Amino acid sequence: MNIFEFFKKFPNEESCRIHFKNHRDKVGVICKKCKGEHHYWLSTIQYYKCKQCGFRTSLKSGTVMENSKLPFQYWYIAFMFATSTKKSFSSLEIQRQLNHKFYEPIWSMMHKIRRVMCKADEEYKLEGSIELDEGFFVTVPNKEERKEKQELKRGVGSQRNSKVLVMVESELNPNQTNQHKANRIVKRLKMVHIEDYKHNTLSKELEKAVETKKTYLITDDGRHYSKLKGLVKSHTSINTKNLKSDKVLPWVHKTISNAKRLFLGIHHSIGRDYTQNYLSEYCFKFNRRNEVDIFDELLLCSVKNTWY
Ligand SMILES: [Zn+2]
Repeated sequence: MNIFEFFKKFPNEESCRIHFKNHRDKVGVICKKCKGEHHYWLSTIQYYKCKQCGFRTSLKSGTVMENSKLPFQYWYIAFMFATSTKKSFSSLEIQRQLNHKFYEPIWSMMHKIRRVMCKADEEYKLEGSIELDEGFFVTVPNKEERKEKQELKRGVGSQRNSKVLVMVESELNPNQTNQHKANRIVKRLKMVHIEDYKHNTLSKELEKAVETKKTYLITDDGRHYSKLKGLVKSHTSINTKNLKSDKVLPWVHKTISNAKRLFLGIHHSIGRDYTQNYLSEYCFKFNRRNEVDIFDELLLCSVKNTWY
């Protein structure tokens, strides 16, 4: 949806609210008190009333907008910005565009939207040929880490780095005609912020992200990957000694460098505690790069009963 189409469809607060309610009705409202699924709509006060217990639910309650005082139209504009480009917008830029006085509510809104994107991608698993590797993203340590007066570590173990597990699903290119082009094409990807490379952490995240019994895993010959063999259908470990780094796991490395460049260019620095949110936004958009109505999909995910 381009900006003209957007403002034609959503010219004011009322049009956004009606659209939001229609989507919420499609997904269904669940009562927080008795988990009842049937409600009356009290149009004068704009509340749902549970048919079973009478409990009232506001239009925003239980959705991504719960507890938000921002107008529906702000949220809709944010959804539009969040889906209109492959890249991203900083909260500061959205605040400027909305001409809103305070930064914090806009920042919080953008992170809630990123959490929705995260949940949407957790609903399915990758399968087939999957390249897996880790990347390090420069992030800002959180308050507690900064308070601990011990010197910040350097290098790989540094609190200034967030460790990220990257998994990229690919398949043979059915239209392969040029032998110089890659014979595989990327399908979907997942990136997960992890605290360490212990076997328990890696296996837990792998099991969450992929259909293990349908996974042909490809990694480098790092020691921490060798134990994953038993979890998946097959595991190929590439000896990296005599290979250029871009020849080993090319999709993973491309993904990491693209994401890093994007984060640096748009968000400049990202808080360690929010690394996952930025990663999820990147993956959500990448995984839907060929879809026609990504705005609508984000909206449907946003009206889901988040508390349930
Ligand atoms: Zn109820």
